[in-house]
Amino acid sequence: MMSDQRESTMTDTVFDLADDLGPAAVIHIHRPAVGLQAILVVDNVAAGPAIGGVRMAPDASLGECFRLARAMTFKNAAAGLPHGGGKSVIIADPGMQPARKQQLVRAFACAISPIADYIPGPDMGTDETAMAWIRDETGRAVGLPREIGGIPLDEIGATGRGLTAAAEVACRHAGIDLAGARVAVQGFGSVGRHAARFLAKRGAVLVAASDSKGAVIDPDGLDIDALAAVKARGGKVTDLAGARAIDRDAIVGVDCDIWIPAARPDVIRADNVDTVRAKLIVQGANIGVTADAERTLHERGVLCVPDFIANAGGVICASVEYHGGSEPQALAVIDEKIRANTEEVLERARDDGIVPREAAEAMAQERVRRAMALTRFGTKLPS
Ligand code: NAD
Repeated sequence: MMSDQRESTMTDTVFDLADDLGPAAVIHIHRPAVGLQAILVVDNVAAGPAIGGVRMAPDASLGECFRLARAMTFKNAAAGLPHGGGKSVIIADPGMQPARKQQLVRAFACAISPIADYIPGPDMGTDETAMAWIRDETGRAVGLPREIGGIPLDEIGATGRGLTAAAEVACRHAGIDLAGARVAVQGFGSVGRHAARFLAKRGAVLVAASDSKGAVIDPDGLDIDALAAVKARGGKVTDLAGARAIDRDAIVGVDCDIWIPAARPDVIRADNVDTVRAKLIVQGANIGVTADAERTLHERGVLCVPDFIANAGGVICASVEYHGGSEPQALAVIDEKIRANTEEVLERARDDGIVPREAAEAMAQERVRRAMALTRFGTKLPS
Protein backbone atom coordinates (compact mmCIF):
# COMPACT_ATOMS: atom_id res chain seq x y z
CA MET A 1 0.00 0.00 0.00
CA MET A 2 2.75 2.39 1.01
CA SER A 3 4.66 1.78 -2.18
CA ASP A 4 1.49 2.14 -4.30
CA GLN A 5 0.80 5.51 -2.73
CA ARG A 6 4.37 6.68 -3.30
CA GLU A 7 4.26 5.53 -6.92
CA SER A 8 0.95 7.29 -7.50
CA THR A 9 2.25 10.59 -6.12
CA MET A 10 5.37 10.43 -8.27
CA THR A 11 3.40 9.62 -11.39
CA ASP A 12 1.01 12.51 -10.79
CA THR A 13 3.94 14.90 -10.34
CA VAL A 14 5.54 13.88 -13.62
CA PHE A 15 2.29 14.14 -15.54
CA ASP A 16 1.54 17.53 -13.96
CA LEU A 17 4.63 18.81 -15.74
CA ALA A 18 3.92 17.13 -19.06
CA ASP A 19 2.42 18.64 -22.21
CA ASP A 20 2.21 17.62 -25.86
CA LEU A 21 5.95 18.20 -26.43
CA GLY A 22 7.23 16.06 -23.57
CA PRO A 23 8.81 14.80 -21.50
CA ALA A 24 9.37 11.57 -23.39
CA ALA A 25 10.84 9.90 -20.32
CA VAL A 26 11.68 10.69 -16.71
CA ILE A 27 14.01 8.40 -14.82
CA HIS A 28 14.71 8.48 -11.09
CA ILE A 29 18.00 6.83 -10.23
CA HIS A 30 18.61 5.47 -6.73
CA ARG A 31 21.79 3.47 -6.01
CA PRO A 32 22.11 3.36 -2.21
CA ALA A 33 25.29 1.25 -2.40
CA VAL A 34 27.17 4.27 -3.79
CA GLY A 35 24.93 6.99 -2.34
CA LEU A 36 23.70 8.07 -5.78
CA GLN A 37 20.42 9.92 -6.27
CA ALA A 38 19.82 11.42 -9.69
CA ILE A 39 17.08 12.35 -12.14
CA LEU A 40 17.15 12.25 -15.92
CA VAL A 41 14.52 14.04 -17.98
CA VAL A 42 14.54 13.27 -21.70
CA ASP A 43 12.14 15.92 -22.90
CA ASN A 44 11.85 15.52 -26.66
CA VAL A 45 13.87 13.48 -29.14
CA ALA A 46 11.94 14.06 -32.37
CA ALA A 47 14.89 15.89 -33.98
CA GLY A 48 17.47 13.40 -32.70
CA PRO A 49 19.06 12.22 -29.46
CA ALA A 50 18.72 14.77 -26.68
CA ILE A 51 21.79 16.83 -25.73
CA GLY A 52 21.73 18.43 -22.29
CA GLY A 53 23.97 19.03 -19.33
CA VAL A 54 24.55 17.04 -16.16
CA ARG A 55 24.06 19.40 -13.21
CA MET A 56 25.43 18.48 -9.78
CA ALA A 57 23.72 20.37 -6.98
CA PRO A 58 22.50 19.39 -3.48
CA ASP A 59 19.07 20.99 -3.95
CA ALA A 60 18.29 19.99 -7.56
CA SER A 61 14.69 18.90 -8.09
CA LEU A 62 12.52 17.17 -10.68
CA GLY A 63 10.82 20.49 -11.51
CA GLU A 64 14.14 22.23 -12.12
CA CYS A 65 15.40 19.29 -14.19
CA PHE A 66 12.26 19.35 -16.34
CA ARG A 67 12.41 23.14 -16.94
CA LEU A 68 16.07 22.90 -17.91
CA ALA A 69 15.33 19.93 -20.22
CA ARG A 70 12.55 21.89 -21.96
CA ALA A 71 14.87 24.89 -22.34
CA MET A 72 17.32 22.55 -24.12
CA THR A 73 14.55 21.29 -26.42
CA PHE A 74 13.89 24.90 -27.46
CA LYS A 75 17.56 25.88 -27.63
CA ASN A 76 18.53 22.89 -29.79
CA ALA A 77 15.48 23.29 -32.04
CA ALA A 78 16.04 27.01 -32.44
CA ALA A 79 19.66 26.35 -33.37
CA GLY A 80 18.49 23.82 -35.98
CA LEU A 81 20.56 21.01 -34.43
CA PRO A 82 19.71 17.36 -35.11
CA HIS A 83 19.13 16.95 -31.36
CA GLY A 84 16.28 17.07 -28.91
CA GLY A 85 16.50 18.35 -25.37
CA GLY A 86 17.19 16.67 -22.04
CA LYS A 87 18.84 17.33 -18.72
CA SER A 88 20.01 15.37 -15.73
CA VAL A 89 20.74 16.27 -12.13
CA ILE A 90 22.89 14.44 -9.61
CA ILE A 91 21.69 15.43 -6.17
CA ALA A 92 24.99 16.05 -4.37
CA ASP A 93 27.41 18.78 -3.36
CA PRO A 94 29.89 19.37 -6.25
CA GLY A 95 32.56 20.45 -3.75
CA MET A 96 33.20 16.83 -2.67
CA GLN A 97 36.60 15.12 -2.87
CA PRO A 98 37.62 14.36 -6.51
CA ALA A 99 37.82 10.57 -5.95
CA ARG A 100 34.28 10.52 -4.53
CA LYS A 101 33.04 12.70 -7.37
CA GLN A 102 34.53 10.33 -9.92
CA GLN A 103 32.84 7.36 -8.21
CA LEU A 104 29.47 9.10 -8.20
CA VAL A 105 29.69 10.36 -11.79
CA ARG A 106 30.77 6.93 -13.04
CA ALA A 107 27.87 5.28 -11.16
CA PHE A 108 25.51 7.84 -12.72
CA ALA A 109 26.98 7.11 -16.16
CA CYS A 110 26.40 3.34 -15.73
CA ALA A 111 22.78 4.02 -14.72
CA ILE A 112 22.00 6.17 -17.79
CA SER A 113 24.08 4.08 -20.19
CA PRO A 114 21.04 2.21 -21.64
CA ILE A 115 19.29 5.51 -22.45
CA ALA A 116 20.93 5.88 -25.85
CA ASP A 117 18.80 8.90 -26.74
CA TYR A 118 20.47 11.06 -24.09
CA ILE A 119 23.91 12.59 -24.69
CA PRO A 120 25.28 14.22 -21.51
CA GLY A 121 27.25 17.48 -21.49
CA PRO A 122 28.83 19.66 -18.78
CA ASP A 123 26.74 21.97 -16.59
CA MET A 124 26.99 23.54 -13.14
CA GLY A 125 29.04 21.24 -10.89
CA THR A 126 30.44 19.09 -13.72
CA ASP A 127 33.20 19.74 -16.25
CA GLU A 128 35.04 18.23 -19.20
CA THR A 129 36.84 15.71 -16.94
CA ALA A 130 33.46 14.46 -15.68
CA MET A 131 32.36 14.14 -19.33
CA ALA A 132 35.47 12.03 -20.01
CA TRP A 133 34.45 9.66 -17.16
CA ILE A 134 30.91 9.44 -18.58
CA ARG A 135 32.18 8.71 -22.07
CA ASP A 136 34.53 6.10 -20.65
CA GLU A 137 31.52 4.29 -19.12
CA THR A 138 28.91 4.84 -21.84
CA GLY A 139 30.72 5.67 -25.08
CA ARG A 140 28.97 9.03 -25.40
CA ALA A 141 29.20 12.56 -23.97
CA VAL A 142 29.96 16.04 -25.32
CA GLY A 143 32.17 18.85 -24.00
CA LEU A 144 35.12 16.46 -23.79
CA PRO A 145 38.78 17.28 -23.09
CA ARG A 146 40.90 18.06 -26.17
CA GLU A 147 43.02 14.91 -25.51
CA ILE A 148 40.09 12.67 -26.45
CA GLY A 149 38.81 14.67 -29.40
CA GLY A 150 36.84 17.35 -27.59
CA ILE A 151 36.56 21.03 -28.51
CA PRO A 152 37.05 22.96 -25.24
CA LEU A 153 34.06 25.27 -25.62
CA ASP A 154 34.81 27.50 -22.62
CA GLU A 155 38.46 27.90 -23.57
CA ILE A 156 37.65 28.96 -27.15
CA GLY A 157 34.74 31.15 -26.03
CA ALA A 158 32.00 29.39 -28.02
CA THR A 159 29.14 31.09 -26.18
CA GLY A 160 30.81 34.54 -26.18
CA ARG A 161 31.35 34.15 -29.92
CA GLY A 162 27.65 33.42 -30.41
CA LEU A 163 26.63 36.40 -28.28
CA THR A 164 28.75 38.60 -30.52
CA ALA A 165 27.04 37.26 -33.66
CA ALA A 166 23.65 37.96 -32.02
CA ALA A 167 24.78 41.47 -31.02
CA GLU A 168 25.90 42.28 -34.57
CA VAL A 169 22.47 41.45 -35.97
CA ALA A 170 20.55 43.06 -33.08
CA CYS A 171 22.56 46.30 -33.35
CA ARG A 172 21.15 46.86 -36.83
CA HIS A 173 17.61 46.38 -35.48
CA ALA A 174 18.27 48.68 -32.52
CA GLY A 175 19.98 51.38 -34.62
CA ILE A 176 23.32 50.99 -32.82
CA ASP A 177 26.71 51.16 -34.53
CA LEU A 178 28.70 48.28 -33.01
CA ALA A 179 31.94 50.11 -33.75
CA GLY A 180 32.17 52.44 -30.76
CA ALA A 181 29.18 50.94 -28.93
CA ARG A 182 29.54 51.03 -25.12
CA VAL A 183 29.13 47.58 -23.53
CA ALA A 184 28.58 46.53 -19.91
CA VAL A 185 29.10 42.87 -18.93
CA GLN A 186 27.67 41.43 -15.73
CA GLY A 187 29.77 38.38 -14.79
CA PHE A 188 33.29 38.53 -16.21
CA GLY A 189 33.60 34.71 -16.32
CA SER A 190 33.87 32.32 -19.22
CA VAL A 191 30.93 33.72 -21.20
CA GLY A 192 31.30 37.39 -20.24
CA ARG A 193 35.05 37.62 -20.77
CA HIS A 194 34.95 36.11 -24.26
CA ALA A 195 31.92 38.19 -25.25
CA ALA A 196 33.81 41.35 -24.23
CA ARG A 197 36.87 40.22 -26.18
CA PHE A 198 34.98 39.37 -29.39
CA LEU A 199 32.85 42.54 -29.23
CA ALA A 200 35.99 44.67 -28.75
CA LYS A 201 37.41 43.11 -31.95
CA ARG A 202 34.42 44.67 -33.73
CA GLY A 203 35.15 48.08 -32.25
CA ALA A 204 32.91 48.02 -29.16
CA VAL A 205 34.19 49.50 -25.89
CA LEU A 206 33.81 47.71 -22.55
CA VAL A 207 32.72 50.46 -20.12
CA ALA A 208 31.74 48.29 -17.12
CA ALA A 209 32.25 44.75 -15.85
CA SER A 210 31.37 42.87 -12.69
CA ASP A 211 31.92 39.61 -10.86
CA SER A 212 30.45 38.16 -7.70
CA LYS A 213 32.58 40.51 -5.57
CA GLY A 214 32.03 43.90 -7.22
CA ALA A 215 31.97 46.03 -10.38
CA VAL A 216 34.27 48.47 -12.17
CA ILE A 217 33.49 51.28 -14.59
CA ASP A 218 35.44 53.45 -17.03
CA PRO A 219 33.51 55.45 -19.67
CA ASP A 220 36.72 55.61 -21.79
CA GLY A 221 37.00 51.81 -21.84
CA LEU A 222 38.39 49.12 -19.54
CA ASP A 223 41.51 47.20 -20.57
CA ILE A 224 39.99 43.76 -21.35
CA ASP A 225 43.32 41.89 -21.46
CA ALA A 226 44.39 43.39 -18.13
CA LEU A 227 41.01 42.50 -16.60
CA ALA A 228 41.27 38.93 -17.92
CA ALA A 229 44.79 38.67 -16.46
CA VAL A 230 43.51 39.85 -13.05
CA LYS A 231 40.79 37.17 -13.14
CA ALA A 232 43.19 34.47 -14.37
CA ARG A 233 45.34 35.17 -11.29
CA GLY A 234 42.28 34.55 -9.12
CA GLY A 235 41.65 38.26 -8.48
CA LYS A 236 38.45 40.33 -8.50
CA VAL A 237 37.44 42.82 -11.21
CA THR A 238 37.86 45.56 -8.58
CA ASP A 239 41.60 44.71 -8.44
CA LEU A 240 42.02 46.26 -11.92
CA ALA A 241 44.35 49.24 -11.63
CA GLY A 242 42.93 52.61 -12.67
CA ALA A 243 39.25 51.60 -12.84
CA ARG A 244 36.58 53.09 -10.58
CA ALA A 245 34.78 50.57 -8.38
CA ILE A 246 31.00 50.79 -8.05
CA ASP A 247 28.48 48.72 -6.14
CA ARG A 248 28.26 45.24 -7.70
CA ASP A 249 24.58 45.43 -8.65
CA ALA A 250 24.79 49.06 -9.81
CA ILE A 251 26.07 47.67 -13.13
CA VAL A 252 22.41 47.15 -14.09
CA GLY A 253 21.94 50.94 -14.37
CA VAL A 254 25.28 51.82 -16.00
CA ASP A 255 25.07 54.20 -18.97
CA CYS A 256 25.81 52.00 -22.00
CA ASP A 257 24.42 50.88 -25.38
CA ILE A 258 24.61 47.09 -24.94
CA TRP A 259 24.12 45.22 -21.66
CA ILE A 260 25.18 41.58 -21.35
CA PRO A 261 24.03 39.45 -18.42
CA ALA A 262 26.53 36.58 -18.06
CA ALA A 263 26.13 35.50 -14.43
CA ARG A 264 22.98 34.60 -12.52
CA PRO A 265 19.26 34.18 -13.31
CA ASP A 266 16.67 36.95 -12.72
CA VAL A 267 19.17 39.82 -12.50
CA ILE A 268 16.84 42.23 -14.30
CA ARG A 269 13.41 42.10 -12.71
CA ALA A 270 10.47 44.26 -11.68
CA ASP A 271 12.34 46.05 -8.88
CA ASN A 272 15.32 47.24 -10.98
CA VAL A 273 14.15 47.20 -14.60
CA ASP A 274 13.51 50.96 -14.52
CA THR A 275 17.20 51.62 -13.87
CA VAL A 276 18.28 49.99 -17.17
CA ARG A 277 19.80 52.57 -19.54
CA ALA A 278 20.99 50.27 -22.34
CA LYS A 279 19.22 50.14 -25.72
CA LEU A 280 20.02 46.48 -26.31
CA ILE A 281 20.31 43.45 -24.02
CA VAL A 282 21.94 40.30 -25.37
CA GLN A 283 21.34 37.51 -22.89
CA GLY A 284 24.29 35.28 -22.07
CA ALA A 285 22.98 34.00 -18.74
CA ASN A 286 20.04 31.61 -18.77
CA ILE A 287 16.82 33.37 -17.68
CA GLY A 288 18.78 36.51 -16.74
CA VAL A 289 15.76 38.75 -17.34
CA THR A 290 12.33 37.89 -15.91
CA ALA A 291 9.37 37.65 -18.28
CA ASP A 292 7.73 40.75 -16.72
CA ALA A 293 10.92 42.77 -17.03
CA GLU A 294 11.33 41.69 -20.67
CA ARG A 295 7.84 43.01 -21.41
CA THR A 296 8.55 46.31 -19.63
CA LEU A 297 11.78 46.71 -21.59
CA HIS A 298 9.97 45.91 -24.85
CA GLU A 299 7.37 48.61 -24.11
CA ARG A 300 10.22 51.08 -23.47
CA GLY A 301 11.82 50.18 -26.82
CA VAL A 302 14.76 48.27 -25.34
CA LEU A 303 15.56 45.29 -27.56
CA CYS A 304 16.19 41.97 -25.74
CA VAL A 305 17.68 39.00 -27.57
CA PRO A 306 16.40 35.93 -25.64
CA ASP A 307 18.87 33.64 -23.85
CA PHE A 308 18.20 30.45 -25.82
CA ILE A 309 18.80 32.28 -29.11
CA ALA A 310 21.86 34.32 -28.08
CA ASN A 311 23.67 31.83 -25.82
CA ALA A 312 23.41 28.69 -27.98
CA GLY A 313 27.10 28.86 -29.00
CA GLY A 314 28.12 26.29 -26.37
CA VAL A 315 25.63 23.61 -27.41
CA ILE A 316 26.24 24.26 -31.12
CA CYS A 317 29.94 23.66 -30.44
CA ALA A 318 29.09 20.47 -28.53
CA SER A 319 26.96 19.22 -31.42
CA VAL A 320 29.74 19.87 -33.95
CA GLU A 321 32.14 17.99 -31.64
CA TYR A 322 29.70 15.05 -31.37
CA HIS A 323 29.43 14.79 -35.14
CA GLY A 324 33.23 14.77 -35.55
CA GLY A 325 33.71 18.38 -36.67
CA SER A 326 36.74 20.58 -36.01
CA GLU A 327 37.14 23.77 -33.95
CA PRO A 328 37.13 26.11 -37.02
CA GLN A 329 33.98 24.36 -38.27
CA ALA A 330 32.33 24.84 -34.86
CA LEU A 331 33.08 28.58 -34.89
CA ALA A 332 31.73 28.95 -38.43
CA VAL A 333 28.51 27.07 -37.56
CA ILE A 334 28.01 29.19 -34.42
CA ASP A 335 28.34 32.41 -36.44
CA GLU A 336 26.01 31.24 -39.19
CA LYS A 337 23.25 29.72 -37.03
CA ILE A 338 23.09 32.44 -34.38
CA ARG A 339 23.15 35.22 -36.97
CA ALA A 340 20.29 33.59 -38.94
CA ASN A 341 18.22 32.83 -35.83
CA THR A 342 18.60 36.29 -34.32
CA GLU A 343 17.57 37.83 -37.63
CA GLU A 344 14.49 35.59 -37.90
CA VAL A 345 13.40 36.17 -34.29
CA LEU A 346 13.82 39.94 -34.43
CA GLU A 347 12.05 40.19 -37.80
CA ARG A 348 9.11 38.12 -36.51
CA ALA A 349 8.93 40.19 -33.33
CA ARG A 350 8.95 43.43 -35.33
CA ASP A 351 6.42 42.24 -37.95
CA ASP A 352 3.99 40.78 -35.38
CA GLY A 353 4.53 43.47 -32.74
CA ILE A 354 5.46 40.89 -30.09
CA VAL A 355 8.23 40.47 -27.51
CA PRO A 356 11.27 38.71 -29.09
CA ARG A 357 10.95 35.83 -26.58
CA GLU A 358 7.42 35.08 -27.84
CA ALA A 359 8.72 35.05 -31.39
CA ALA A 360 11.64 32.80 -30.38
CA GLU A 361 9.40 30.32 -28.55
CA ALA A 362 6.97 30.20 -31.47
CA MET A 363 9.86 29.54 -33.88
CA ALA A 364 11.35 26.80 -31.67
CA GLN A 365 7.97 25.12 -31.11
CA GLU A 366 7.22 25.10 -34.84
CA ARG A 367 10.54 23.35 -35.47
CA VAL A 368 9.92 20.76 -32.73
CA ARG A 369 6.41 20.06 -34.01
CA ARG A 370 7.62 19.70 -37.61
CA ALA A 371 10.20 17.16 -36.42
CA MET A 372 7.53 15.36 -34.35
CA ALA A 373 5.29 15.07 -37.41
CA LEU A 374 8.05 13.00 -39.05
CA THR A 375 8.18 10.40 -36.25
CA ARG A 376 5.91 7.40 -35.62
CA PHE A 377 4.89 8.16 -32.03
CA GLY A 378 5.02 11.96 -32.22
CA THR A 379 8.22 11.74 -30.27
CA LYS A 380 10.60 8.81 -30.53
CA LEU A 381 10.75 6.95 -27.24
CA PRO A 382 14.15 6.59 -25.63
CA SER A 383 15.50 3.12 -26.22
P1 NAD B 1 31.48 31.31 -14.95
O1 NAD B 1 31.39 30.66 -13.63
O2 NAD B 1 32.68 31.09 -15.79
O3 NAD B 1 31.33 32.90 -14.79
C1 NAD B 1 30.32 33.49 -14.04
C2 NAD B 1 30.81 34.83 -13.58
O4 NAD B 1 29.73 35.51 -12.95
C3 NAD B 1 31.94 34.79 -12.55
O5 NAD B 1 32.90 35.76 -12.90
C4 NAD B 1 31.26 35.14 -11.23
O6 NAD B 1 32.13 35.79 -10.32
C5 NAD B 1 30.20 36.09 -11.75
N1 NAD B 1 29.08 36.28 -10.85
C6 NAD B 1 28.45 35.40 -10.04
N2 NAD B 1 27.45 35.99 -9.37
C7 NAD B 1 27.46 37.29 -9.76
C8 NAD B 1 26.67 38.40 -9.42
N3 NAD B 1 25.66 38.30 -8.56
N4 NAD B 1 26.93 39.59 -10.02
C9 NAD B 1 27.94 39.70 -10.92
N5 NAD B 1 28.72 38.67 -11.28
C10 NAD B 1 28.47 37.48 -10.70
O7 NAD B 1 30.14 30.87 -15.71
P2 NAD B 1 29.85 30.94 -17.28
O8 NAD B 1 30.14 29.61 -17.89
O9 NAD B 1 30.49 32.16 -17.85
O10 NAD B 1 28.26 31.09 -17.29
C11 NAD B 1 27.65 32.34 -17.05
C12 NAD B 1 26.16 32.24 -17.35
O11 NAD B 1 25.97 31.88 -18.72
C13 NAD B 1 25.41 31.18 -16.55
O12 NAD B 1 24.11 31.66 -16.32
C14 NAD B 1 25.34 29.98 -17.50
O13 NAD B 1 24.23 29.15 -17.22
C15 NAD B 1 25.16 30.71 -18.81
N6 NAD B 1 25.58 29.92 -19.97
C16 NAD B 1 26.86 29.48 -20.07
C17 NAD B 1 27.25 28.78 -21.21
C18 NAD B 1 28.68 28.34 -21.40
O14 NAD B 1 29.02 27.95 -22.52
N7 NAD B 1 29.53 28.38 -20.40
C19 NAD B 1 26.32 28.52 -22.24
C20 NAD B 1 25.01 28.99 -22.10
C21 NAD B 1 24.66 29.70 -20.96
